[in-house]
Amino acid sequence: SPEDMSRLVKCISRINKTNKSINAVISHYDFDTLLKQHNPNANENDLIFLLKDNMCTKDLPTTCASKALSGFVSPYDCTIVERIRANNGLILGKTNMDEFAMGTDNAYTTYGPVKNPLFADEYRTPGGSSGGAAASVAAGYCDIALGTDTGGSTRLPSSFCSVFGFKPSYGRISRYGVVSFAQSLDTVGIVANSMDNIEKSFKILDAHDPKDPTCLTNEMRENFAKSAPNRKLRIGLIHEAILDYEPEVRKKWEECLETLIEAGHEVVEVSVPTLKMSVPAYIAISFSEATSNLARYDGVRYGYRAVEDMDPVYRTLYGPTRNEGLGDEVQRRLLIGTFNLTEGAYDEHFLKAQKVRRMLINDFNKVLRKPNMLFPRTNGPNTENVEGIDVFVNPTSLGIAHVMGKKREEESVLEVLGDVLTIPCNLAGLPAITVPVGKSIGMEVYGQHGDDMTVLGIAREID
Ligand code: GLN
Repeated sequence: SPEDMSRLVKCISRINKTNKSINAVISHYDFDTLLKQHNPNANENDLIFLLKDNMCTKDLPTTCASKALSGFVSPYDCTIVERIRANNGLILGKTNMDEFAMGTDNAYTTYGPVKNPLFADEYRTPGGSSGGAAASVAAGYCDIALGTDTGGSTRLPSSFCSVFGFKPSYGRISRYGVVSFAQSLDTVGIVANSMDNIEKSFKILDAHDPKDPTCLTNEMRENFAKSAPNRKLRIGLIHEAILDYEPEVRKKWEECLETLIEAGHEVVEVSVPTLKMSVPAYIAISFSEATSNLARYDGVRYGYRAVEDMDPVYRTLYGPTRNEGLGDEVQRRLLIGTFNLTEGAYDEHFLKAQKVRRMLINDFNKVLRKPNMLFPRTNGPNTENVEGIDVFVNPTSLGIAHVMGKKREEESVLEVLGDVLTIPCNLAGLPAITVPVGKSIGMEVYGQHGDDMTVLGIAREID
């Protein structure tokens, strides 16, 4: 009977049944082999995973949903794959995404767009860039889908698909073997159907990795709380985050804050003035870093190659390869990023954005209770401020998943302007989670770098 079916059988049969229309899973292991190897009695509690297709696996392709990497198979597994397997996790396959994680709708992909499973009768976006991950969890294909979050790419789709989406503090999860978009912002994110599964998988993945120089050291990790504090918290309502929300979203936010006040917490309005400048800073920094990271897709050592040999005089290998291999949105961003890094524009664009980033971190440090270990306070000692805010709570997005259909090309790069509520956490390295509070509505909780446990604690209270 269906109730007796193992969780694995259920996940696989759901993929077989609905993935054709949702389009979230783009490659997978042979299901018959997985079922044969899986002992349902012994393994009923083991977590079932799907991975975003920018995570290197040596026995499945890793394409970043780009023609530039069509058919590419990595010679090694990323560290997270090793950690999942060492903890009895079962990986089913890889999920669709925006090309090289650049996008908010999961529509810029060589595999065709992902559809939001919450809306059966119309094509609404699942959010992006980890749209395949969020749609997979919402459709019951797995317990956990790992995504990445450079400016909101785990949280936005999780919010749009009504699942949990956690971006831990920068550096907690190894990025070794995860294809870089903008390395100073990139974070592995966890999408799951419950707080239990978020916490179980975070425990598996949260560890130092000597192969990733940006992964936090054990010494640094000793400063971080191991559990949520057992006291009433000060919850920050950021003045600059009071924006033009859709009415239903705003209502859920008010209800959520009321619940937290009833539970004994205090809600305090604070100002983070630089929040308003975080999207332009993100555009300058992430596009510039991407320009450098994506320079390797030149058709020489791996990936798509447009012509057989490079003409020594006219150098006709790189141009056609990159022109044909990279999609329009990626090319737009690389042009802007290249411009930002030229001698004439560097000071006014890249460097200025870095200054805005530091101002934003200083703003956060000023109002938060805990000190930031990565970016210490510049004025005053880097110690705890007992008057400070523990976590912030606001909606993850201004509205719910929008209807798609007509080409949204004109909006292109400017789409990221909608990410104003998620991007500040990437610029400052802060842990952030979105908790589903309604159909296609998520509430975002975020706190100081390293204070992931306090953030998860409040997320549980909201759930
Ligand atoms: N939506 C943002 C962008 O398009 C964030 C992407 C991400 O986090 N990978 O850049």
